[in-house]
Amino acid sequence: MPPPDSLDDSPAESDLIIARPEGLYCPPGDFYIDPWQPVERAVITHAHSDHARAGHMHYLASERGAGVLLSRLPGIDLQTAAYGERLDLNGVTLSLHPAGHVLGSAQVRVEYRGRVWVASGDYKLEADPTCDAFEPVRCDTFITESTFGLPIYRWESSQAVFDGVDSWWRHNAAEGRASVLFCYSFGKAQRVLASIDPAIGPIFCHGAVEPLNRAYRDAGVALPPVRLVSEIAAKDKAIFKQALVIAPPSAQGSAWMRRFGDYSDAFASGWMRLRGTRRRRGVDRGFVLSDHADWPGLQSAIQATGAGRIIVTHGQVEPMVRWLREQGLQAGAFATQYGDDVVEADAAGAAEAVATTEATAQGETNAEAEASVTATPAVLRDSP
Ligand SMILES: [Zn+2]
Ligand SMILES: [Zn+2]
Repeated sequence: MPPPDSLDDSPAESDLIIARPEGLYCPPGDFYIDPWQPVERAVITHAHSDHARAGHMHYLASERGAGVLLSRLPGIDLQTAAYGERLDLNGVTLSLHPAGHVLGSAQVRVEYRGRVWVASGDYKLEADPTCDAFEPVRCDTFITESTFGLPIYRWESSQAVFDGVDSWWRHNAAEGRASVLFCYSFGKAQRVLASIDPAIGPIFCHGAVEPLNRAYRDAGVALPPVRLVSEIAAKDKAIFKQALVIAPPSAQGSAWMRRFGDYSDAFASGWMRLRGTRRRRGVDRGFVLSDHADWPGLQSAIQATGAGRIIVTHGQVEPMVRWLREQGLQAGAFATQYGDDVVEADAAGAAEAVATTEATAQGETNAEAEASVTATPAVLRDSP
């Protein structure tokens, strides 16, 4: 086992992206990518709250993601670029390319004096009807996430997962029981809505999900008709017996659930791959469904870039760095503050009254701790 400090990447004077206390920084272009502290100019890969934070002076993001980003951060000074459009920032050529993660998600390509770096943000390779497909981008250095960077993470085809959701729902409806599916209100909820069979019964969503549905529809993403749970008067609640209800994880165990009477609940997340997570969640069913690449997906995405140097930002950093080095690649890590795609807290504010919002952050932190089969050493920083 190598000493932990050997995970340090070897920074060079000519690096196009470096880690600073505020976030990932491009020195020649003078901009940050998904910074976690307020900066002058922030390029945002996608609107999840660990990547898109409030407080920056100027934002740049993909045109496709503008609606969801503005629904999360209203009033920001936002410049948008179409996928593939080339912008000049202080002599650095910048372009955004689909990351396949959620609507508008982008990899950031920077080119300067013949060198090309790409920062991935979060990504997945599987087809998703609600966002543009991941595009492999050739580069010299690839900065990658590694949320599910362990060999135990191998996703089933999403079609098989949605078939499972459909048959769970169909079975519950036949028994006169509501089907309540917990999933993140931005990204996962819309992917589920676009993929299940709406002929089975009526579909309802929690108020936290609706603003994101609207942003997706405004961007031209086809979603089936969905009603708000809060529209149904108590005397009409029998309609829920045949219904699929999409709700954020924060609704679990809240008073909001009482209206459904007899129900079956389920959770859709990549973390459901871990048996302990499902048990702790206390749901009837766990559907393993992630918007992040699994282990083979990470490997093939990295290889497709042709990059000789890889820098890992978050998730299973150490196993990924070790694997990359075994492939003969130069590999290291950046310490970042990415890793919790928790948007529920923001979304719940705009929603109908929900008693609990802290459960989400708590649950995901636990899940992540469990996923850290290999402890991540503190010294993973790629010092500038
Ligand atoms: Zn994300
Ligand atoms: Zn993330």
